[in-house]
Amino acid sequence: MNLGNIIILSGPSGVGKSTLIKAIRQELPDLRFSVSCTTRPPRVGEVNDVDYHFLTKEEFIRRRENNEFVETAEVFANYYGTLKSEVLSIAEKGENVLLDIDVQGALQIKDACVADEKLARCCEFIFIVPPSLEELERRLRGRATDSEEQISLRLSKAKHELSFWHEYSYIIANKDVEIAASELLSIIKNFSLQSKKFTKEPF
Ligand code: 5GP
Repeated sequence: MNLGNIIILSGPSGVGKSTLIKAIRQELPDLRFSVSCTTRPPRVGEVNDVDYHFLTKEEFIRRRENNEFVETAEVFANYYGTLKSEVLSIAEKGENVLLDIDVQGALQIKDACVADEKLARCCEFIFIVPPSLEELERRLRGRATDSEEQISLRLSKAKHELSFWHEYSYIIANKDVEIAASELLSIIKNFSLQSKKFTKEPF
């Protein structure tokens, strides 16, 4: 059994990442999605181990000290994190798992790969960028619900995130959703041909 792929997909707010994920989901029905841990309480309708692994703060801290996460983040006083075991166990079964995470989380996973050879063989980093900063601003302004202050905050955060583009192995410019989705699909399909994915001689 060859190794599957842990696909780390990042891109700033407004770049159209969710639409792209929806588009490739139809073509890759076996693609799995990583379930994160969180210390925030479940919202109505959320199911433990489906939407999140809901943990107490103590349990989260214990696991973090035990080095069980590939990345963690603190958002509005709650902790979030991706379990190493969760993503690796899927890839070890030869399946693909997608992580939709921000640049901060992706950089932590890149660091974790330095110390973990198997993780490094499975992880693939893809960054979605807008065709231009002007177009990103236009798209962010298109969301009529946001205030001017929210828009400029999102835009400056997006610019900061975009400055990390060179940390990723693959860059997709989302000018046309259909073209970007087909580029994303072809990248993912080719991951399995890399020699690092083979667990035995391929002949
Ligand atoms: P929510 O509580 O609304 O589900 O998520 C709040 C924020 O936490 C969102 O921006 C979401 O993307 C982020 N988040 C959820 N899971 C993880 C995770 O495993 N790692 C990181 N770094 N952020 C996460």
